[in-house]
Amino acid sequence: ARMYPVQVIDVLQELLPLIENEAILHNTEVRYEELEDDLPKIMADGELLKQVFLNLCKNGIEAMGDGGVLTIRIRWLKEEEQLGIEVADVGPGIPTYALEKIFDPFFTTKETGTGLGLSVCQRIVHDMGGTIHVSSGDWGTTFTVLIPALVK
Ligand code: ADP
Ligand code: MG
Repeated sequence: ARMYPVQVIDVLQELLPLIENEAILHNTEVRYEELEDDLPKIMADGELLKQVFLNLCKNGIEAMGDGGVLTIRIRWLKEEEQLGIEVADVGPGIPTYALEKIFDPFFTTKETGTGLGLSVCQRIVHDMGGTIHVSSGDWGTTFTVLIPALVK
């Protein structure tokens, strides 16, 4: 990976057309929250970070089928000196049996899924020194990516 200081908002900006396109196909509304443009940068490979964003957004949009709201948040966690990237959907959630398997390569519940999206996301995030978390109940799923920030 070619790591360099990256402004997460800029990466997201470049992806907007792709995310919006996917959203339009599924009648999904995309909301962007707390996106400030003076956040600390992170060390990352911008192209790989795009893959992470896109995979998480696609999964969220697919989980809701037709319609729904996808919320993208980027938070500066001052105490932890990390950036938190959240992608939240209001889909059916992830059943408990599946929660421990979703990051395994080839685990999919989709007819035409590859099951590779989340395992690739996890590897990319780990390579950036970050972690990826999921919180899901009977309703809605939120993926959170935490990445160490380059503190000014
Ligand atoms: P794929 O999308 O090809 O199935 P992924 O690795 O991206 O592979 O996801 C693995 C599985 O995790 C999905 O098949 C689905 O069961 C579950 N999953 C991932 N994201 C969500 C989500 N936002 N809501 C519900 N289930 C999800
Ligand atoms: Mg996927």
